[in-house]
Amino acid sequence: MNIVELSAGRILVVKPDFGEDLIESIKAAAERFNVKVGVFWAIGAVKNATISYYDQAEKKYVRLRLDRPLEILSCIGNVSEFKGETLIHAHIVLGDRGGEAYGGHLEKGTEIFSGEIFLVEAKGLTLTRAYDERTGLNLLKI
Ligand code: ZN
Repeated sequence: MNIVELSAGRILVVKPDFGEDLIESIKAAAERFNVKVGVFWAIGAVKNATISYYDQAEKKYVRLRLDRPLEILSCIGNVSEFKGETLIHAHIVLGDRGGEAYGGHLEKGTEIFSGEIFLVEAKGLTLTRAYDERTGLNLLKI
């Protein structure tokens, strides 16, 4: 186990526009306010969604497209840096009218109906990612 200690900085409250892409709006907010490292939570609703599941044996993401209105029951993630770019890693749980839930890694292609995002800046260190041979993932480098 590796641990680094950071401290909380600014808290940004982000209200994305109707139709905006969820992960892109989180990234744009982080970049506009120069948040290099952070954590966030989002709730609200989406018009449609693209999520994925990481197949550990195949070492690849399998996409799931949901072309219907869904509630964002929970969306959490972090902000780090990968190859000099702001990287948003987010997971989401979405619920439908009947209370069924779908969850996975949040992908581009998720259109906001309404959203409330709280982004907490973390200070003290820049977190980058590096490819990990064993998992096939770009993991936090700490
Ligand atoms: Zn993920």
